Amino acid sequence: MERIDSFRHMGMRKRLVQELRIKNITDVRVLNAIGKVPRHLFLESSFIKFAYQDKAFPIGAGQTISQPYTVAIQSQLLEVNEGEKILEVGTGSGYQAAVLLEMGVKLFSIERQGELYQRSTRLLRELGYQGRFFLGDGYEGIPAQAPFDKIIVTAGAPVIPRNLLVQLRIGGIMVIPLGDQKQVLTRIIRIDEDEFEQEQIEECAFVPMLNGIVKDR
Ligand code: SAH
Repeated sequence: MERIDSFRHMGMRKRLVQELRIKNITDVRVLNAIGKVPRHLFLESSFIKFAYQDKAFPIGAGQTISQPYTVAIQSQLLEVNEGEKILEVGTGSGYQAAVLLEMGVKLFSIERQGELYQRSTRLLRELGYQGRFFLGDGYEGIPAQAPFDKIIVTAGAPVIPRNLLVQLRIGGIMVIPLGDQKQVLTRIIRIDEDEFEQEQIEECAFVPMLNGIVKDR
């Protein structure tokens, strides 16, 4: 498949970045990254003309690519610094991963759906993004790579996954949508070995975080 990023796409991204500024995204590192990642390449071709609207879209396997605002607010809440080790749960389309990689982090991303894992890993490689991608259950995290400076969960979790908490370094930040039907975007800071600070940010709607993996057909 030919992957073209044209001046027209770049112009549309500039407008999207302006829209995110108006919606109170202030972290310039986040805005710059969103200005660079060719979001249209992460959508199915039939949705490409909607790529730079601030909306979520289906990506197959019953999943969605998060709305740009959601990607932006989660990234901003993570307070990302270059070189940090970050765990993402729910690779999905790979768009959030690309935004974080554009910010210069060491990214480990885990996806439970084989089909999405295959497709996103291939796309990100083709676009030159150097993350590490895993097919697995995000409830388990990646113990072999822990601790992480930051953890971002991009599916709605009914409860805070214990295994993820212990894989966060002391002083680290986790951003996670908590709840069943609707969620509350929540930021957790690990203050000490057994001490966590929790801050509720705003309501949000994610696809659910599920158990186990689904192999590719
Ligand atoms: N970050 C993605 C958002 C995709 S939607 C993006 O930028 O497009 C959430 C994703 O989380 C889906 O792909 C879903 O399959 C995945 N997911 C749900 N539960 C999971 C789990 N336990 N472990 C890993 N991935 C999970």
